[in-house]
Amino acid sequence: MLIVQKFGGTSVGDLDRIQNVANRVSITKKAGNDIVVVVSAMSGETNKLVSYAEHFSKAPARAEMDMLLSSGERVTASLLAIALSEMGFPAVSMTGRKAGIVTDNIHTKARIEVVDPTAMKKAISEGKIVIVAGFQGVSHDGNVTTLGRGGSDLSAVAIAGALKADLCEIYTDVSGIFTTDPRIEPKAKKLDKISYDEMLELASLGAKVLQNRSVELAKKLNVNLVTRTSFSDEEGTLITKEENIMEKPLVSGIALDKNQARISLVGVKDRPGIASDIFTKLSNNNVNIDMIIQNVGYDGKANIDFTVPVSDLADAKRVVEAFVEEVEINEASYDENICKVSIVGVGMKSHTGVAAKAFSIMAKENININMISTSEIKISMVIDEKYAELAVRSLHAAYELDK
Ligand code: ASP
Ligand code: MG
Repeated sequence: MLIVQKFGGTSVGDLDRIQNVANRVSITKKAGNDIVVVVSAMSGETNKLVSYAEHFSKAPARAEMDMLLSSGERVTASLLAIALSEMGFPAVSMTGRKAGIVTDNIHTKARIEVVDPTAMKKAISEGKIVIVAGFQGVSHDGNVTTLGRGGSDLSAVAIAGALKADLCEIYTDVSGIFTTDPRIEPKAKKLDKISYDEMLELASLGAKVLQNRSVELAKKLNVNLVTRTSFSDEEGTLITKEENIMEKPLVSGIALDKNQARISLVGVKDRPGIASDIFTKLSNNNVNIDMIIQNVGYDGKANIDFTVPVSDLADAKRVVEAFVEEVEINEASYDENICKVSIVGVGMKSHTGVAAKAFSIMAKENININMISTSEIKISMVIDEKYAELAVRSLHAAYELDK
């Protein structure tokens, strides 16, 4: 097999951890696999480099930041190559450029355009273990670029796609994806497999493990992703195509997002284009809208409720208040003490009654549902934040995720 293994900052956090990674890689190699390893900087290292730059300037040139920040990954890549060679496993480290990772020229948040795997393939054919410095590439004009914080996962997925690797393993200090946050429900179980789409909908459960954009890229390139821990031999969670999952669970997980606020617009003037006006202004102000509900109020005026991330609330308020001043909206109210609970599972596509069950569980617990939205594989409910944990635990039990 050809396997891409990516080790995050905590997995290469000190010299002993790097030796531990070398041991793990050597075992995979001895088992007869070809391996490309992608590494992050040692944990805390990138932040340290950022603070060095800030010592001199509040707004350092982004191209210089890329020169600076890309160095952290090179340190771990070369150290790992040295450690492996010493153990008798020929290894070669590569910068993003050498590995063929070509990006646009948007410094500090470049996008990968293509990966030319020629150099990696050549080294693999010579029996070498290839170690790539993650998080970085090269622009068309030859400058070092970085992919945005946390970007080494993306490097790994893009490389796995270009090499048509059998597997892309992402190693962190978390053992996989769970049915819900184990800090809320200790009975949460680690999932063996989950589809790309479920993973994307369960973003909050994967937050500390995988970025959504890495999952999106894996889906696009058809890369089988595994998230697992480098701290034990425990198996992780496979994130793959829905077709690869034989037994489709009705519900795979329960996600909780406390980071939401609700805005209620009462008495919105009923004229064509009003919704467009409001939501275009919000979008122009970079406010992210999640759920929207509109219903007919009184006097031909409508009510519109929607949710935004708490961090966008101040911007949203400014936009909305302008409409209130122009008497396009009678009044607006804002509620930060809400949360969104989501039930996700591909099985919902073919089974009925999943939503009805969720609502009856809420009723039994006396939890009022403020808003509901659904997609093919997800049911989300907005409720009072004080019931967040109770709701998650009750739903987790109701769908038997602890079994
Ligand atoms: N070292 C970079 C960061 O801390 C990239 C990464 O770890 O994925 O953001
Ligand atoms: Mg990371």
